[in-house]
Amino acid sequence: MNTVYIDQSKKKYSKSQFIKYFEAKVMRTIRKYDMLGKDKIIVAISGGKDSLTTAHILNKILSKQGRILEAILIDEGIEGYRKPTIEDAKRFCKKESIKLHIISTKKEFKFGVDEALKKLRINPCTICGTMRRYLLNKYARKLKADKIATGHNLDDEAQTIMMNQYKGNIQLSAKLGPVTGAIENKKFIKRIKPLYFVTEKEVTIYTTLKNFGVSYNECPNSKDNFRSLVRDQLNELENRYPGVKSGIINSFLEQLPSLRNAPKNKIVECKSCREPSSRQVCSMCELLEKYRK
Ligand code: SF4
Repeated sequence: MNTVYIDQSKKKYSKSQFIKYFEAKVMRTIRKYDMLGKDKIIVAISGGKDSLTTAHILNKILSKQGRILEAILIDEGIEGYRKPTIEDAKRFCKKESIKLHIISTKKEFKFGVDEALKKLRINPCTICGTMRRYLLNKYARKLKADKIATGHNLDDEAQTIMMNQYKGNIQLSAKLGPVTGAIENKKFIKRIKPLYFVTEKEVTIYTTLKNFGVSYNECPNSKDNFRSLVRDQLNELENRYPGVKSGIINSFLEQLPSLRNAPKNKIVECKSCREPSSRQVCSMCELLEKYRK
């Protein structure tokens, strides 16, 4: 047998066995958390391996039920990085017959991450994340979506949990989990993460075996940031003590109900843009104000 993967119990998988194993694992997550129901699903696509894998599996399930999957890609304006991934996403969506909506921050706000970095002393990922979360929610709502599916995998989630721990922001983790539900507001579109229990390594193998044509280029802003430091640390720990990442996720899921029960800020409409926010002025409008000063 030509082995493509060996799991923690040392079981070996051929190509076809691995694809079955991977898809079954994702299906179990979707069923366990009732992610799809009869809801209209929009998939957030970046053109990278995780989002294309999510889109492929959801499209496979939904098209069998005669349902349509649409995708949103946010172009955050990062020179040399986003362009090839947009091309990958376009090619992929055409092949899978998924309608792709590309939203550009430059068109929406008249600037992208690169321009913002020239004016503001703010972490690029904070700028990028603020723009992306805002636009995804706004445009998914315009498309009448009930849920946004994202490509977060087990590694991403374990990193975010640890980052919140290290920074003393454990309460922020209430917004994590396979289905986001900490904020109940009709203007906030729920997020689902079908890849929640599959590892980065498993997604990479699946993407390669399925030949999605992903470029695997890294964002220039990802080098030496806090996340990459935590990622390297967790990878090192996982190599020495297999199962560490799953351990973080499983113990986090046990704590999640109590995190979500903690008192939260009331959700109001941002007094500037009318989008939902936990503050009088949302973080996107705050960013716009700083940029325009
Ligand atoms: S590394 Fe940071 S700036 Fe680059 S795409 Fe990711 S969040 Fe955006």
